[in-house]
Amino acid sequence: MSDLLKRLRGRGWRLTAQRRVVAEVLDGDHVHYTADEVHALAADRLPEISRATVYNTLGELVSLGEVIEVSTDGRAKRYDPNAHHAHQHLVCARCGTIRDVHPVGDPLADLPAQERFGFAVSAAEVTYRGVCPDCAA
Ligand SMILES: [Zn+2]
Ligand SMILES: [Zn+2]
Repeated sequence: MSDLLKRLRGRGWRLTAQRRVVAEVLDGDHVHYTADEVHALAADRLPEISRATVYNTLGELVSLGEVIEVSTDGRAKRYDPNAHHAHQHLVCARCGTIRDVHPVGDPLADLPAQERFGFAVSAAEVTYRGVCPDCAA
């Protein structure tokens, strides 16, 4: 059983066949699918699953805090099941591969007080960009 599925079971989330398939698709490390990709993968397992059901389920998972929305390219939102371990993203500028990375410093703590302009700063997102080894070869 996937990690996300386990967490949802633990929370007593009502698991219909459709919700289950969405949760199963969002399994593994470095997973950052768009809603359309989740729909295509879910439909491989459950052909009748509708786009609307996938979108609604993703919205619920985000509200529950079990999946986070990521926007690394400023276009499509991506859905990331690695919701409980703070991380940043490393993105290949050519093929779009995304890796979860853990900088040594804390980007939130690294912003100096004089550059906070009196804000109560609560989150920081950093996207590292480059070219992956496959694209560089
Ligand atoms: Zn690449
Ligand atoms: Zn991630």
